[in-house]
Formats: sequence, C-alpha cells, structure tokens
Amino acid sequence: MKKRIYKIKNADLKNYCSFKIGGKAKCIYFPENIEQIKCLINKFKNKKIAYFLLGNGTNILFNDKKFKKVIICLKKLNKIQINGEEMVCGAGASLFDVNAFCVKNDLGGLEFTYGIPASVGGAVAMNAGAFGDDVCSHLSEIVVCKDGEIYSRQNLEWSYRKGVLKDGEILIYAKFNLKPAKKQQIIEKQQQFLQKRKISQPFGEFCAGSIFKRQGDIVPAKLIDEWGLKGLKIGGAMISQKHAGFIINTGGASGMDVLTLIEIVEWIARKKGFCFEREIIVL
Ligand SMILES: Cc1cc2nc3c(=O)[nH]c(=O)nc-3n(C[C@H](O)[C@H](O)[C@H](O)COP(=O)(O)OP(=O)(O)OC[C@H]3O[C@@H](n4cnc5c(N)ncnc54)[C@H](O)[C@@H]3O)c2cc1C
Repeated sequence: MKKRIYKIKNADLKNYCSFKIGGKAKCIYFPENIEQIKCLINKFKNKKIAYFLLGNGTNILFNDKKFKKVIICLKKLNKIQINGEEMVCGAGASLFDVNAFCVKNDLGGLEFTYGIPASVGGAVAMNAGAFGDDVCSHLSEIVVCKDGEIYSRQNLEWSYRKGVLKDGEILIYAKFNLKPAKKQQIIEKQQQFLQKRKISQPFGEFCAGSIFKRQGDIVPAKLIDEWGLKGLKIGGAMISQKHAGFIINTGGASGMDVLTLIEIVEWIARKKGFCFEREIIVL
C-alpha cells in the first residue's frame, strides 16, 4: 500500500521561516521520497495548482496574509551518504547535518558553510556562500524534478548568489566532490568560520541573512552603515546594529514592517545613486 504524503493544513508560516513572520498557508506537503514528489507535482500540474518550494525558510519574507500557493517542503528528504568519491545529500538535509557528516567521514571543503542555517535545496538554489567560497563550486552533479520528470545534470552553471537550477527544476539530490581531510582540521575550520559569523552577524536573532546582494565593489551593508541607518526601525523590524545588511525581527514585526524598511533603504539608495538588488525573496 502506498504511504500517504504527510501534510499540515492551515499551517502557521511563522514556524517555517527564520524571520518568524507570516500568515497561514493552506497546506504544506512533506514528501519523503522521489515517488511522492513526482506524485505531488503531477497532481498540481493536472489540477493547475500553483505551489512554492520551501527549504529552511532562511532567505524568505512571507506576507502577513493567507499564502495563496500550496507549499512543498523537502525536509523529510534529508539523507546524506557516500557514493564512491562523492557525498550525496537529499535536498532537505540541513547544512549543519552536512557539516557533521563531513566531520564523521573526514571530508573537507564545505567548512565555510558552517553556520549558514540553510537546507541543501535552498543553498543550491541560491548558491549560498561565505568567506569567498560558494556551495555550487563544490557540486559534481544534481538530480532534479521538472514537470514530474526526474533527471540528473552534470553541466552546471552558477554565479554570485545564483544557483545551478534552471526554471522549474526542483532539487532532489546534490552530489558534492570533496577532499579527504583530517577530522581535527575540519572541526577547527568550522569553528573559525562560526566564530567570524558570531562576531559580525546578528547570530541567534530572527532574521533572514543579507537583504541585498553585493554587486562587485558595491557592498550594500557597508553603504547602509555609512549612511547611518543601523538601528532604523519600522514597527518591530530593525536594521541590525551589528550588521547593516541584516534586518531583524525584534519581536512582533509584520511582513509589512520588514518590507517597508526594505523599501525605505532602497529609496535612500536610489537618492544616493545606487540601485540595490534584493537577495531575500519577498513572497
Ligand atoms: C543568520 C543567517 C545567516 C545567513 N548567512 C548566509 C551566508 O553566509 N551566505 C548566504 O549565502 N546566505 C546566508 N543566509 C541566507 C540563507 O541561509 C541562504 O540564502 C540559503 O541558501 C537559503 O536556504 P533555505 O534552505 O533556507 O531556502 P529557503 O529560504 O527556504 O528558499 C530559498 C529559495 O530556494 C528555493 N528552494 C529551496 N529548496 C529548493 C529545492 N529543493 N529545489 C529548488 N528550489 C529550492 C526556494 O523556492 C526559494 O526560492 C543566512 C541566513 C540567516 C538567517
């Protein structure tokens, strides 16, 4: 007998994003294998139901109102295993678990991701990166689902915060090519990166990473700081005192508070001759 796909109806989106902001979602589906993903996608395609793919919700700002699309979350597809020289990660695996797996199996290369609160799916979609490195640079192959078809690709293109997925592709598995490394060295590197993060970012606050992308030499966080905007507050949303590229929910912020603050910064930037590009996805 086929296992039913786990789902939560009338879900509170606050519980599914790092901003802790959002209204209700009609339904969140949690498929746990490829068959269930195919089944869902085909069903939505046939019934013309719009869906949104959710990772760990750490780069997303939800609306305060009811979310119109249904949501698919691959959190249950979180296996990590070794296949020959490669590490194969389910899209729902967290980067924390990936890093723990790397330590256990003496694999080096992804230490810079330690502390990024993403899922593998979100990290590959966004090409998450830090300290001069990025996730997609370590990929060897991806397995994706598009229109209910499953296929793999090795021909991968990416750029700054723009991952390897093409329109409509859902990441199922990512294969990483990593190098053998000494356990102790991996741990030390991870801790160094984590420390740097804790010093420079509002670690542990309700936020969603950098709001704006770097554009070459233009670093929005640096400019926002220079313009004296740290601490600027709308409702419960505030530009972080620690890192001007982050907006934090100081408690009870609405999606509209955060969006208004983003738009104010964009307006000021335009007045000063800059056009900031959003890294965060506003839904
Ligand atoms: C405290 C903090 C620190 C951060 N530091 C960094 C950092 O150093 N560097 C950095 O790059 N980012 C950072 N971020 C931002 C965020 O973690 C990344 O953008 C991350 O890649 C988002 O992953 P996610 O799983 O949360 O994806 P989500 O936010 O859930 O989704 C992001 C996008 O990916 C898509 N997506 C998710 N899963 C899949 C899938 N399986 N297939 C196809 N598309 C998918 C979603 O549809 C959405 O478009 C930080 C965030 C926080 C809160």
